[in-house]
Amino acid sequence: MRFFKNSSLAVFFVLGLQLHAQPRSDYWQQRADYDIRVSLDHKTHTFTGQQEITYTNNSPDTLEKVFYHLQFNAFQPGSNMDERSRDLPDPDRRVGSRIAGLSEKEIGEQKILWLKQDGKEANIEHWGTILKVTLPAPLAPGQTTKLALEFRGQVPQQIRRSGRNNSEGIHYSMAQWYPKLANYDRYGWNTTPYVGREFYGVWGNFDVRIDIDKAYTVAATGVLQNAEEMGRGYSTSKKNGAGTWHFRAENVHDFVWAADPKYIHTTHQVEGGPLMRFFYTEKKGDPAKNWEELPKYMERFFQLADSLVGPYPYPEFSFIQGGDGGMEYPMATLMMGRGKLKGMVGLAVHEAMHNWFYGMIATNENRYPWIDEGFTTFVENIIMQKLFPEEGVRASNPHYSNYLGYVQQYEAGKTEVLTTPSDHYLTNRAYGIASYSQGCLLLNNLLYIMGEEDFWKGFQNFFRKWAFHHPHPEDFIREMEKTSDLQLQWFLDLWIGTTQAIDLSIDSVYGDNNSTHIVIGRKGDIPMPATIGVVTPKGVELHHVPIDLMYGNSNQEGKHHPFWKWASRSYTLTLPVPFSDVSVVMVDPYFKTADIQRDNNRWKK
Ligand SMILES: [Zn+2]
Repeated sequence: MRFFKNSSLAVFFVLGLQLHAQPRSDYWQQRADYDIRVSLDHKTHTFTGQQEITYTNNSPDTLEKVFYHLQFNAFQPGSNMDERSRDLPDPDRRVGSRIAGLSEKEIGEQKILWLKQDGKEANIEHWGTILKVTLPAPLAPGQTTKLALEFRGQVPQQIRRSGRNNSEGIHYSMAQWYPKLANYDRYGWNTTPYVGREFYGVWGNFDVRIDIDKAYTVAATGVLQNAEEMGRGYSTSKKNGAGTWHFRAENVHDFVWAADPKYIHTTHQVEGGPLMRFFYTEKKGDPAKNWEELPKYMERFFQLADSLVGPYPYPEFSFIQGGDGGMEYPMATLMMGRGKLKGMVGLAVHEAMHNWFYGMIATNENRYPWIDEGFTTFVENIIMQKLFPEEGVRASNPHYSNYLGYVQQYEAGKTEVLTTPSDHYLTNRAYGIASYSQGCLLLNNLLYIMGEEDFWKGFQNFFRKWAFHHPHPEDFIREMEKTSDLQLQWFLDLWIGTTQAIDLSIDSVYGDNNSTHIVIGRKGDIPMPATIGVVTPKGVELHHVPIDLMYGNSNQEGKHHPFWKWASRSYTLTLPVPFSDVSVVMVDPYFKTADIQRDNNRWKK
């Protein structure tokens, strides 16, 4: 059958079957299928649109109201985003005080003209970037309703993520552009005002029709339904249609699009993966060359991510020049397009990797930014080390840069606890260290605690089970526990619920002609198992000391010893080796943990 000719479609079909599988017996999630029609006037940068959401309440609660995100309203002087940016000691330089200086013609706007539930007008209240809707007919558990509305807005001058005329001249970066239903989960409504980051959407299908001047090429989430008519690289057709762009995306929770009259559109089919699309305007020099080089790196990326985590199930993925920095969306990324090759590949790898952690593992980013950013960074570092191998410390610890950032922040006494809501960290730096670095190091520490084999098995089990859902941290650690048959909740609780750190040391080494005694110390407050390397004339011997909190032992290299009681500050390891033979002793000799003080890890005769 033709349908199965493309292996990625076959994978989509297989994973599609699992969409309805229940990852946990008491789990439920809402569903919202979008039908949107938008018309953009490129002369005034304003747009009008109609939207209908088919909303299914799978929760056990009757809903009397619903909320929408109206994120373009953040780009107005005096908005929460503006106030927050001017209040932070280290604001994002792309924002700074730029919002305060926007004129009427440059601000962003998203206004709902009316909203009807099953044809009946609902009461609506605009609260900045949030719309509160009182439903005329409360929605009972298991019920489906139609929420129709008309919206009107203005595309802001590009400040952050979306807008017009970005710094590389891309006309429209349309992220966070439509009235987006807030998610309702077991913690209730997620009504976080938009102050610059973090998203959480409802699973569903998006059917989007875009009208824009015929000079433009449009790139978007999903698959173009009228490729023959529109041409412009979507089909071999020479005619570039002037009609409506019709995209459809299945099982996603957001939708981005971008438009520029000068987009060059190239494609590359990943063997065993998606069709990649590249949209860029660079015609000359290194930037143009880099965009031409990108496909071969990204083909390897998809194959590596597939084998490390699990399959990318969608038929297409688009790399779109636009926005600022790089930002993830389902089946697409908006990214800057004039960096150096390695930087651009790194950016593309990070943003595309988000389609696993954000795209498919769709956690609440306001509550758990360390999952989407940390897990993405963790796999990104490993893949980048494979694409651009580096010697030295990065060869054994590809997360070295994240480790250094974390230690620096820790030593300055400025780490903040990872349960801080993402918009409320005291500094942008603390948010960055917590979400990207500590989130990444959480996994690297677990990889050490569990042993490589069980870690990757557990990681893949978690992905397979929770893709297309909204897991919480306990769902992740539970899957790791089930795979490894080890108790691990203690580590998650300490790593995300406190600012305690890991610091093991070799306190003393002594002995006689028959044996050597090694005293291992716990200087940090987080208990950890210990791997000890002992150098003798015969070479390096490895010894492993598990910790009682695990109630089991992981599959680690080296000779295994009786467990360490977690409350003890020290552990004495006795080896049947003459003391005179021992020249060096090290704890964590291969740099597998985020031990904050490595100077005390080594003893030398
Ligand atoms: Zn990211």
